[in-house]
Amino acid sequence: MSYRIVLIPGDGIGPEIVAGAVEVLEAVGAKFGHDFQFDTVLAGGCAIDAYGVPLPEDTLQKCLQSDSVLLGAVGGPKWDTLPGHLRPERALLGIRKALGLFANLRPAKLQKELAAASPLRADIAARGVDMLIVRELTGGMYFGPRGRGEGELGENAYDTEIYSVGEITRIGRVAFDTARKRGGKVCSIDKANVLESSRLWRETMHRLAAEYPDVTYCDMLVDNAAMQLIQNPAQFDVIVTSNLFGDILSDEASQLTGSIGLLASASLGEGTRGMYEPIHGSAPDIAGLGIANPIATILSAAMMLNLSFGLTAEAKAVEDAVAAVLAGGARTKDIAAGGDFIAGAEMTARIIAAL
Ligand code: NAD
Repeated sequence: MSYRIVLIPGDGIGPEIVAGAVEVLEAVGAKFGHDFQFDTVLAGGCAIDAYGVPLPEDTLQKCLQSDSVLLGAVGGPKWDTLPGHLRPERALLGIRKALGLFANLRPAKLQKELAAASPLRADIAARGVDMLIVRELTGGMYFGPRGRGEGELGENAYDTEIYSVGEITRIGRVAFDTARKRGGKVCSIDKANVLESSRLWRETMHRLAAEYPDVTYCDMLVDNAAMQLIQNPAQFDVIVTSNLFGDILSDEASQLTGSIGLLASASLGEGTRGMYEPIHGSAPDIAGLGIANPIATILSAAMMLNLSFGLTAEAKAVEDAVAAVLAGGARTKDIAAGGDFIAGAEMTARIIAAL
């Protein structure tokens, strides 16, 4: 099969880590007989430098014509003082909106050899962490009506959490369908004891749960979930939650695994096309030094193989290769805990060799 992949290396370490993922995809193509065609485009700070805008029209059009998008990271101190509409991060919002990407999937898995890098107590880490957070990405408080006014105690400001049954249903289906392919459990996180929007969220999730009798379902209040993630993370398989709660909880969950350089993500819409990217940023402090960990981007490419192209065996081969290399003791600087480490390019080479 042939697949058209748009590459957005972006800024900072983006070009280094995307190059690693491309090498891995080419190795997968050679091994399994697929043709991956790559088209590299600009977005973020480098696009501001070249064209004066973070998301050039040509980049957007190419994303719309692609089978999927692989992104490194955008941003850096050079562009920090620009006005909001010209900031590199605007490129991400523009692509998500144009591609209708409403579901953000972030797996958080603790590899047992890296347990020492996790802030979890050893006995809790030993029970394992292997969850997937499904965050609603285009609704809720980040997009609801907002404003400022005057009140008795001076100037005030408000943001509004609005969710429709349609929005909740479609993100819920992503969670339930994904749970069927994983551990068969969904936990929906809300604040239904206080918020009306959460009560509608919960009612809608209950209706969906009835359609998926083979999936074990539970609700959890967000304050309890924040504690449970630390106390007993092994209980979670798929977590589904709103944009705001998901933003916070997915960062908390990512820390359980020890390093930001290992964690992948996918943003999906109604079709098969998605945008895949590591959860970390452009790491300007280490850009160009050759020490960036490529694994988060390589695992993002594996998610693309699985979720957008349906190449489950190929995705598993990449995940297994990464796990084998880590189990064999290879470490980039971010996961070396002060010990010996290898360059990012060497990590990529070892993963390809394991593949
Ligand atoms: P960051 O994730 O870039 O870096 C945080 C720390 O983690 C740094 O010490 C960095 O060196 C380290 N790190 C990150 N990725 C690593 C990797 N693959 N290997 C080894 N170490 C790694 O976060 P930040 O410093 O807060 O942000 C830097 C820039 O990235 C900012 O401009 C921010 O806006 C942007 N950013 C972009 C995205 C994105 O493109 N999706 C996401 C987050 C931040």
